[in-house]
Amino acid sequence: MKTYKRDYRSPNPTFKHTSRVMSSIKGKDTKPEILLRKALFNRGLKGYRLHVKHLPGKPDIVFTKSKLAIFVHGCFWHRCPKCQMHTPKHNTVYWQTKFDKNVQRDIKHVQQLSDMDWKVLTIWECELKTILRDILSSIKESLTPFKPAV
Ligand SMILES: [Zn+2]
Repeated sequence: MKTYKRDYRSPNPTFKHTSRVMSSIKGKDTKPEILLRKALFNRGLKGYRLHVKHLPGKPDIVFTKSKLAIFVHGCFWHRCPKCQMHTPKHNTVYWQTKFDKNVQRDIKHVQQLSDMDWKVLTIWECELKTILRDILSSIKESLTPFKPAV
């Protein structure tokens, strides 16, 4: 384990690490969302709006004409059922409460949107990575030299 030089100004190293991890996955233009936008672009899917404020939950990607709202959820913050991300050891109760609220809010937003006749897609960060990996591997497979039939 790494040892830290303590000069009594820096916070507890454990928490320091935790907060660095937090800030790297927080934010508006989160990486998974950019991955999806690139995939949409490559498929020629345009005409969507981003972070539509007047809709419940401010969906990340919105196709207004088709009434399709897409949420791209980070597995950590929104508690992906598949990944079962860890809860920080420090301030566990605080984080657990925060995560529970996030999950409840997500459920409420989906309900509100479907009450307004919107289709809702929730895409998890981990799914997105798998999908893109599939796309990339099929491209890769197609990149074999052309062999004419004899
Ligand atoms: Zn996940």
